[in-house]
Formats: sequence, C-alpha cells, structure tokens
Amino acid sequence: MLIDNHGRIINYLRLAVTDRCNLRCFYCMPEEGLEWLSRKELMTYEEMLRICNLLIQMGIDKIRITGGEPFVRKDMMQFLTSLSKLSGLKQLTITTNGVLTAPLVPELKKIGIHSVNLSLDTLDRNRFFSITKRDELPNVLATLEALLKHDIEVKLNAVVMDGRNTQDIIPLIELTKDQPISIRFIEEMPFNGGDAHYTKLRWDYLQILETITQAYPSIQKITDEAYSTSYNYHIPGHQGSVGIIAAYTRTFCGSCNRIRITPQGMLKTCLYDNGVLNMKDLVRDGLSDEVIAKDLLFVMQQRAKDGWEAENKRKQNAPVHESMATIGG
Ligand code: SAM
Repeated sequence: MLIDNHGRIINYLRLAVTDRCNLRCFYCMPEEGLEWLSRKELMTYEEMLRICNLLIQMGIDKIRITGGEPFVRKDMMQFLTSLSKLSGLKQLTITTNGVLTAPLVPELKKIGIHSVNLSLDTLDRNRFFSITKRDELPNVLATLEALLKHDIEVKLNAVVMDGRNTQDIIPLIELTKDQPISIRFIEEMPFNGGDAHYTKLRWDYLQILETITQAYPSIQKITDEAYSTSYNYHIPGHQGSVGIIAAYTRTFCGSCNRIRITPQGMLKTCLYDNGVLNMKDLVRDGLSDEVIAKDLLFVMQQRAKDGWEAENKRKQNAPVHESMATIGG
C-alpha cells in the first residue's frame, strides 16, 4: 500500500499519454498550440505499461487515462486493451474531449472501461467554437449519446469561466433531468500554457453554488464519495447529479489519493507541484523495479500537505503557467 507522509493512502494514478490535443480551449493552451513533445520525449506504451504494472503492485488500483487528448495518440485502443489486462487494476477510466470518441465507445465498453469523463463547457455551438477554436460540438454530443447508449457512466466536466459560459450552467444541469449524468462544474485554474495572472477568481465554488441554488431552491447536498474532489448535490426529480470542483480554491487536498504522470514521464504528487521524479529516465536508465519502487516510496514521503504548499515550493523555481495538457489534467 502507498501511504504518504500525511497518512493519506494513494491508490489513484492519472496518466497523461500525450500533450497533443485537437481542441484549443483558451484556458488550457494558446491557439497556436504548444511546443509539442517529440516522440522520443514521450513515454512509449511499453514504458507506460511497465510503470503502471509496478505502481499497481505498490497499491494503485485505479488509473485514469488523460492528456492532451488521449485519442489523438496512435494505437490508443491497443494500449487501453493491454492496460485493462494488468492484474490488480480495479478501475480504468478515461478523460476525453469526445471529438474522436463516439465510434470507439462500443470497444471501450468491451474492454471494461468503467466510466468516462467528458469535457463539455457549453451546449451552444458558437460558444463552443469561441472557447475551443474548433467547430466540434456535434461530435462531442455524439460521444455523449454513445456513452449513454452503452451504459458507460458519464461525468461531464465543465470549466466555469467568467464572461464566457456562465449562462450554460443551468442548460448543462438540465441534461441531468432525464439522463443519469453527473455534471461537475470546475473552477478555472491558472494552467493555460501562457502568462495569465489570476488575482481573484470570480466564479469560485460559492458563486457557482449560489447560481445553481437560485435556479433550483430544492437542491439537496448528498454524501460525497470517499476521496471525491467534488461537492455533490441532487435536484429532486432529476436522474443525475451535480457537483462542484473547487480546483482553484483547493479545499479537497486533505483526502487526496492521487498522483499524476505527465506525457514525459514526470511523476507529480500534487497537481500544483513541479514534478518530483522522472519515471521515464529511471526506466530508460535500465533500473530495476526494486530500485524504482524505493525511489517512489521516498517521494511519497516528501509530499506537500496541500496544493498551496506545493505551489509555494515550486514558485521558487518556476511559476505556474504550464498547460493542463502537459500536466495530465
Ligand atoms: N483532452 C481531454 C479532455 O478535454 O477532457 C483530457 C485532458 S484535459 C486537460 C482534462 C480536463 O482539464 C478537461 O476537463 C479540461 O476542461 C480541464 N482543464 C484544462 N485546463 C483547465 C484550467 N485552466 N482550469 C480548469 N480545468 C482545466
């Protein structure tokens, strides 16, 4: 079992398999894209499988595949199939923007994908274009439909952005009325691959909750699952649920059970840290599983208490202006 220096059990890995993406969400990366990693800089599938296998032996039992956009990487379905066969892995999930995903859903179901997080910030085609710089809303909605049809649990992720999509909060919640969808509203974080300065976040979780409560006065708080990053609510008469993720105000760190690996193989023990161990280098240097396991145990003992501590530590080296696509959002 992996336990950190604050007594938190770590059983959840978020693995970013690429930095590339077929959308250009302004809060994530610049319109011209990023300086994409070369093939050599990316971990190979073999390297990722070895690292995942080792982490599973050490106590990880849930893996989420993210990016960039996972499905822009070649042979992703073969990788997912191999990963799903690793013994000891209880849950394999994916975060996707849904642009290329709809035709793959039957196969995802076949390999046992438990749930999919689909990013969707608006139901309005013009606003979708203005946020993502791509006219892809119909494909994303086709993915949503396919996931529901194949009974794959769907969580919709919507980043709430001042002046951009706050009018979409209620229409997105309406999707939960007749369908078993969980919609989660995320505070915008300063990971846009550029230099934006965030002094104060206007649409924090309290503002989001107030907006929702005004529209649905009968909304009820429901019990949050262990390690949940969202505060969860139910609206009487709705099949689905509503959550708010205080990703910027960071109120959930106390029970954080997750680590991340970036596409370059950098292990992060907090979303806000600067990377604590280069897993790809360890593997390419030919180190044994025993040695890598020792390094992993060591860094788990240096883990920041929360995102504020992690950010303060890294500020001395580099400010937070990377993209979510290179972090493994
Ligand atoms: N391409 C996939 C997708 O769009 O779901 C996976 C990667 S994406 C970086 C993962 C999630 O991070 C998305 O839901 C996206 O909205 C969220 N995200 C990206 N930048 C963010 C930011 N600055 N603040 C909050 N959430 C962000």
